[in-house]
Amino acid sequence: MLAGKTAVIAGSTSGIGLGIAEALANQGSNIVLNGFGDANEIENLRNRLSRDHNVGVSYSGADISKPDQIGEMIEGARSAFGKVDILVNNAGIQYVAPVEEFPPEKWEAIIAINLSGAFYTTRMVVPAMKAEGWGRIINIASAHALVASPFKSAYVAAKHGIAGFTKTIALEVAEHGITVNAVCPGYVMTPLVQKQIPEQAKARGISEEAVVRDVLLAAQSTKEFVAVPEVAGFVAYLCSPEAKSITGAVMPIDGGWTAH
Ligand code: NAD
Repeated sequence: MLAGKTAVIAGSTSGIGLGIAEALANQGSNIVLNGFGDANEIENLRNRLSRDHNVGVSYSGADISKPDQIGEMIEGARSAFGKVDILVNNAGIQYVAPVEEFPPEKWEAIIAINLSGAFYTTRMVVPAMKAEGWGRIINIASAHALVASPFKSAYVAAKHGIAGFTKTIALEVAEHGITVNAVCPGYVMTPLVQKQIPEQAKARGISEEAVVRDVLLAAQSTKEFVAVPEVAGFVAYLCSPEAKSITGAVMPIDGGWTAH
């Protein structure tokens, strides 16, 4: 379905982004992986994806908080595959602390990676997508783009920001065959969530088991974590021809969390 297309997935060496890379490669898209991690593991991942799905897979180690490195990533994608048809802004980090203890450098990093990165990637791909008359931009936001939780001031601010950014760009490019959407997962058990369990326990003065039961899954009505393939499959659907009228949407996949 996506044969001949190329997808750049910011933050795809782990978790949700890696699942999205698998799902889009499975549809025949070439893939540009991005993110941090062990060089050998990333190279193995690149080879496996390419072999399993018979698509081109390249890797950029660009730091999404650095606009010049984002420029190099997009230029690299163009020299490898000719164009960028699909952009998935998925790179993200989290930090959990009361606002008066929130380190300013963590605030700056979260805004840079979770919000500003999407501005820099988007502005670089939109002109060529317009010329092509086709494009898909998918921002992996969060249920925290729609509701708040205490101790996550930077993350919630960045994710609410990405929701507004998504709607704005959708309006700007709507007549050019480009859709722009935000997908808002509830809790998905990935390294990002695993890492915050001890932080949440410390910030709230409760056990790690209580964090899972009473914090993470408290509002998620299904009482289950969302699975990576559920998010990835939806992203693949948004890239399909049938999804061409879905744009400017900020859509939860959150087990009923934001229905409360
Ligand atoms: P993860 O930690 O497993 O993966 C994050 C990816 O981003 C990794 O590939 C990492 O290397 C990359 N990354 C981090 N900082 C980067 C930087 N400066 N430059 C380039 N790449 C960078 O996390 P995840 O849970 O898969 O999260 C992916 C996205 O989904 C994030 O935007 C996150 O906010 C969002 N999200 C996650 C959940 C969840 O419960 N896991 C819920 C809602 C939204």
